[in-house]
Amino acid sequence: MILRVDRWLAELPPPSAPDPEGARVVQELMGGKFGEMSTFLNYTFQSFNFRERQAARPFFDLISNIAAEEFGHIELVAAAINSMLTDDKSIKDELAMAKSPLLGLPSLAGNPHHYVNGGKGALPQDSRGLPWTGDNVFSSGDLLSDLTHNYFLETGARSGKLRVYEAVDHPAARALTGYLLVRGGVHQVAYARAVENLTGADLTKLFPGPRVPSDAIKESKPYIEKGDHRRLYRFSPDDYRELAAVFNGNHPETGEPLEVVDEDPSARPLPQDLPAQNDVFAPGYSTEEVREIADKLRKQAGLPRAVTGDVAHPSK
Ligand code: MN
Ligand code: MN
Repeated sequence: MILRVDRWLAELPPPSAPDPEGARVVQELMGGKFGEMSTFLNYTFQSFNFRERQAARPFFDLISNIAAEEFGHIELVAAAINSMLTDDKSIKDELAMAKSPLLGLPSLAGNPHHYVNGGKGALPQDSRGLPWTGDNVFSSGDLLSDLTHNYFLETGARSGKLRVYEAVDHPAARALTGYLLVRGGVHQVAYARAVENLTGADLTKLFPGPRVPSDAIKESKPYIEKGDHRRLYRFSPDDYRELAAVFNGNHPETGEPLEVVDEDPSARPLPQDLPAQNDVFAPGYSTEEVREIADKLRKQAGLPRAVTGDVAHPSK
């Protein structure tokens, strides 16, 4: 099972100017063949279907643990897309009809689904607006095939991130891709080490990954300085300890030691609380009405007066 922590894996800048065109492109990192839904669900199904896990525990732990990290990547891609679809000068209810993005929809370069279906929210689709499909999952029942597939999946994912980085200059997209490029690099190394520990073949020598090193990307630098390019974080209080038997040795590009790290997940950045977007006409209750009802329910449930969840930029 998954134990969920209400934090983001990385910090994103606060919402700035909306960028629907860019948001459409970033959807490739969500629901594309090499997007985060694919990495998440490939490793998740491989871990579900893993037989004789006690015999192959280090490999099972590696795949399971990376699957858990990928859930956090999906969350972060959604956050970036939502930020890019946010108009921070949130329109008052009475003006919404006159200023709605729906009025200009035929001329929008973005994905109409973001407005018509998603209410300015991320969707499980690629950059063409096509839904993510389970056909993107490869779970063969053969450990070596799965690990080799995962290495190429991470390689393709990294190329995709580089291209999205080049194509979209919105600060949220840049911060997102800067972080994901570093983490994708670690996963590439992890699966390469797993294959090498299993067979002796070094995939990083046979098929060197995208030749643009992550440290050429300004937004990747803080994570590399912190050591994130050579670390796997363990996403469980007590389990998946044996991944250290596979994720070991030195980083193939920098020569630094690879590390498995246990950390307090609550030290990660707080999620942002984006403002309501009334111009897409959410029917029914206004934000204020929902707040009033929720306050009453919270009182009846005996919860403290102040809301207990934490967000990065609380609204009044
Ligand atoms: Mn990822
Ligand atoms: Mn990955």
